[in-house]
Amino acid sequence: MQRVLVLDKNKNPLMPCNSARARQLLTQGKAAVFRQYPFTIILKERDGGDVQPVTLKVDPGSETTGISMVADFKAGKRVIWAGDLTHGGQQIRDRLLSRCQIRRGRRSRKTRYRAPRFLNRRRAGGKLAPSLQSRVENILTWVGRLSRWSPVHLLSMELVRFDTQLMENAEISGVEYQQGELAGYQVREYLLEKWGRKCAYCQATDRPLEIEHITPKSRGGSNRVSNLTVACHDCNRRKGSQTAIEFGHPSIQQQAKQPLKDAAAVNATRWALWRRMDVLGLRLEVGTGGRTKFNRMQQKHPKAHWIDAACVGESGEKIYINPSHAPLQMKAAGHQSRQMCRVDKYGFPRTSPKQGRVHFGFQTGDMVKAVVTKGVKCGIYVGRASVRASGFFNITTPTGTTQGINYRYCTPIHKSDGYFYEKGEALPSATTRVAVSPRQIQ
Ligand SMILES: [Zn+2]
Repeated sequence: MQRVLVLDKNKNPLMPCNSARARQLLTQGKAAVFRQYPFTIILKERDGGDVQPVTLKVDPGSETTGISMVADFKAGKRVIWAGDLTHGGQQIRDRLLSRCQIRRGRRSRKTRYRAPRFLNRRRAGGKLAPSLQSRVENILTWVGRLSRWSPVHLLSMELVRFDTQLMENAEISGVEYQQGELAGYQVREYLLEKWGRKCAYCQATDRPLEIEHITPKSRGGSNRVSNLTVACHDCNRRKGSQTAIEFGHPSIQQQAKQPLKDAAAVNATRWALWRRMDVLGLRLEVGTGGRTKFNRMQQKHPKAHWIDAACVGESGEKIYINPSHAPLQMKAAGHQSRQMCRVDKYGFPRTSPKQGRVHFGFQTGDMVKAVVTKGVKCGIYVGRASVRASGFFNITTPTGTTQGINYRYCTPIHKSDGYFYEKGEALPSATTRVAVSPRQIQ
C-alpha cells in the first residue's frame, strides 16, 4: 500500500505511516489532512521524531517518469510511496507549433513584404527545447515537493542508458568484451538504442529481439560491439551462418561500423536534470539504464515506470515491492493559457478577452468531489473540474468527462497545482507474472 506522508506541527517531515495509522490519527483528532495528492497529514501536537533513511528514486523517461520512495528499514528496503509522472511534452510542442503557424499566417497576410529575418537570435548554450525543459521542471517540482514532505536523505536517478566506461569504449576494436552479466545488460541497451529497438533485417518491433552477430562467430566474427546488432528470432535463424552481406543486407555491415554518436544528445535532458538536482543539497546517486534493467530482472519485478525507478543504481538491489501497490498517477496539465482570447482558424480573435479564472470559488484544474443528488447525472464524481462562468462545470474522472454539473454539488478536495491526479492500477497478481531470464550474449 501507498504510505501516507506525515508532517509534524512545524511542517517538518516525519516517517510516512500506513493508511490505517493515518485514519486513526485523523479520527482521534490528532492530525489534519495537509494535502490530498500525495496524501499528507499534519500532526497537531508532535514536534520532531525518529526517521529512517528514505531514498527518493527517479527514472526519467520521455513520456513518463517513474518516481519511488524507498525506505531502508531494519528488515530490508521497501517501496513506501510510488508515482508515475506523465509529461506534457507533445502537447507543448503542438501548441507552440500552432502558435507559430498562426502568427506566420497573420503576419504574411495583407501586410507589405518584409524580408525574412533569420539567424538574428542569441540563445544561451545548452538551452533545451520547451517540451524537453518542461520534463526537467516537472521532475524537479516533484523532487522538491516529496523531499519537503518526507525525510529524504538520498536522491537517486538514472543518468544514462548504458555505461560506456564500463563497456570499455564499446566500439574500440580489439577489445573483447567479457565482463560478466551486468556488462551484458549495458551492451544490450546500447545495441537496442543504436539499432532503434527493431529487428535490423525485417524492421519488426513487436517481437523479442536477440543479439545477433553480423559476421557469425563460426566465420570468425567476434563479440565486439561493432559486430553485433539486434534481430528477431526468425531473421536470426534464417541468416544462420551467413554474413549480413550474404544475407542481402550490405547496409547493416556499413552501419555497424559507425558508433552511436548521438548518445549524448539522447541523454541531454537527463544531464540537464542532473545538473539541477546536483545543487539541491541532497546526496545524489546516479545509475545507468543497463543497471536498472539488471536489478529489475534479478529480482523478477514486472516492468513499470515506478518499479524501474525503485531499481535505479546501486541502491536498487534487494528491494521489496508489494504486488498490490498502486502508484499515484500524476499528469502535467500546465496552469493557464497565456493566450488573451481564443482565435479562429485564421488566427484572429474569436472571443471576448478572457474573464477572471475563478468562478464561485473554483478554478479550472481543481480536484473536486461532486455529489449530485438528483437528475440524470445523479451520482458521485471525483475528478478535475473545468469551471464555467455559468456555474455548470465539467468534471473529468478516470472514466470520462461529465458536463454541466452545478457548482453547488462540488466540494474542493485539492486546489489546482498544475497536475491532474488519478489513483493508479495495482500490479498484475504475483501468479500471472512471468519471470524473464536475462538474455545472454551468445
Ligand atoms: Zn526480423
